[in-house]
This record gives sequence, structure tokens and C-alpha cells, in this order.
Amino acid sequence: MSSKKIVKIGDVMIGGGNPIVIQSMTNVNPLDENALINQIKALENEGCQIIRLAVPSMEAAEIFGRIKRSVEIPMVADIHFDYRLAIEAINQGADKIRINPGNIGSRENLEKVVNAAKNRQIPIRVGVNSGSLEKDIVMKRGCVDAEGLAESALRNLKLIEDMGYDNLVVSLKSSDVKMNYEAHKLVASMTEHPIHIGITEAGTVKSGKLKSAVGLGSLILAGVGDTMRVSLTADPIEEVRFAKDILYSIGLRKDRVNLVSCPTCGRTKINLEKLANDVEHALEKEGIHDPITVAVMGCVVNGPGEAKEADYGLAGGDGKGIIFSKGEVIKIVKEEDLLEELLSIIRRDRDLLK
Ligand code: SF4
Repeated sequence: MSSKKIVKIGDVMIGGGNPIVIQSMTNVNPLDENALINQIKALENEGCQIIRLAVPSMEAAEIFGRIKRSVEIPMVADIHFDYRLAIEAINQGADKIRINPGNIGSRENLEKVVNAAKNRQIPIRVGVNSGSLEKDIVMKRGCVDAEGLAESALRNLKLIEDMGYDNLVVSLKSSDVKMNYEAHKLVASMTEHPIHIGITEAGTVKSGKLKSAVGLGSLILAGVGDTMRVSLTADPIEEVRFAKDILYSIGLRKDRVNLVSCPTCGRTKINLEKLANDVEHALEKEGIHDPITVAVMGCVVNGPGEAKEADYGLAGGDGKGIIFSKGEVIKIVKEEDLLEELLSIIRRDRDLLK
């Protein structure tokens, strides 16, 4: 259910079935040009595909423009309250702007922003947030809920569409995972514009990752979302890393080894926790990021059967263990040699493919 419309942000396409694009936001001083450039480059190196910057002043808008002219990654200007900042950011070369029409001022001012975006044919992200829902919607519904959030998003999209512009992306933000999910599902069924998904104010690394995994993972599995931002109270590098983790766990990225390991049980006779971690670290250390599945199982009785799909695997036993591939035993080795034997077989097969 990816959106039908395609929106171009710089040279990055979102929507229309394109792969989900990862984005993040800088969190250094918007007037510190060097810090911004360093952070943008670090994020880009980590896999960030679109970067958003807060533009809280005219000076910040000018700096935004200078940075825009010196980096490749598409840049989005995040604007609140002052329509003149939005216009200046557009003139400074923003590839997209993010506004909340509800806080940008009068309809007349909004129209000025829309016309500026139209002139440069850059998309506008219409962002609504459960914390700043229009009063009439809250009054009508008696609370802030998913339906109200969806109504606000659709209303604001229509406001801009009625101004003759439909180069739009929509986002709805709530820190309530369930409300967020329901609101997105509603909007996805009622608009063809690409959807930017995220759980706002998700929290610290621990709680933020948990909410993002559930909140974004469930939406993506339901086919909703064209671009995503994991929002954490942390270095934004963590946001990009975790966005990649979510996409990987859903099978939308295949840029690393899929390590599976059993939960252990009464049959386990080795220190499987250590062995599984050792295999994971060794693969990482050797730079093996092939899209293969490696299984680390606790016993020779059920291990290979339970991990039939694994390209490679090992199963511990009593003094001895086995190396297996696709459910078939290929070698019996001493327990202390399991790790090295597994690695040497993987290395050998990789060399054969070179
Ligand atoms: S693979 Fe063996 S040790 Fe691991 S959970 Fe299954 S039966 Fe238990």
C-alpha cells in the first residue's frame, strides 16, 4: 500500500513503490556551519538519504543555503511559525520544506509559501502532530485520537491542494504507538500522497528503539510508509542505524548476515550464549556482510532440523559439535573448534565465488 504518487526530493524518489528512504535531522546549532556539515557528512556516510535541518531564523536560512550548495544529500528545511523563513529556505535551494500549516499563520501567508514551492517545484511535507492538533478537531472529538489526527492531516493536505499544488508528502506524529498506527492506516487509505512515517518523541535510545521498532515495523509490514525517520533522544547516527536495522529485520535490506540462534533448553550442553556472540563478532570483524543465514544451535539432535533454511550452521553437543548447511551435516568437529571451522568454511565458499 505504498503511496501511488511519486515525489522527488533532490534526486531521491519517494512513493510509487520506491524503496523506503531513510532520513534524519541534524541536532547541532543551526548557526554552526562546520558542525552542521560534519554531522550531515557523518549521517550520509551511515546511510542517511535525506537530511532535515531546523531553520529558526533568517541567518540559519542563509547558512542552510550555503551548506546546500556544498553537499550532495537532499536537504529539507524544517519551519515553524514564520512563513518568511519557509520562503527564504526555498529561495536558498531547499529540496523540500516541512511545515505545519496550522502554525504557519494566515491562509494568505500559507499561500505565499505554497507559491514559492510551486515556482521551484519542490515538495512540501505537511506535518501534523498530536500535540498541536487544531482546537476545533479536539473539541469535536473530545480528545486527541487517531481519527482526529487523520482528519487534521487530510484537511491540511486539501488546503494546499485547493491552492493548486499537489507536490506533497504527509506526516502524522504521535508518541502513542497505537494512535500513530491507526492514524497512518486511515490516512493511507484516503490519500495517494507519499507518507513520511515516524514515532515522534519516542524517547531515549532504549525506549525510543522499542517504540520505533513496533510503531514503524508494524506500519511498514502493513504497507504504509515511503520515507522514515527514527526519532531518538540521542546522536542522530543512532537514528539512521536503527532505521537500517528495522528495514533489515523486515527483509527490506539485505546488507548483512542473518544470524539465527536457538533460545537454548534443557538439552543444551555448551555455552551457546558465548558461542552465538563470538560468531556474530567474528563475522562482523571479518567484514562479512553477505546476505546469508548462519545458525548457531544448541544441540545436534534438533539444531540442523530447526535451522534447515540456514546457509551455514553449527550445533553444539557433548564434547563434539557439527557444522551443517541447509539442514545437512557436513562435518563433525571438536567443540572448541566449532567457531574456527564454521568461519573457515564460510571463507572458503566466499573465495570460490570470487
Ligand atoms: S536447538 Fe536444541 S538446544 Fe536449542 S532449543 Fe532446540 S532442542 Fe534446545
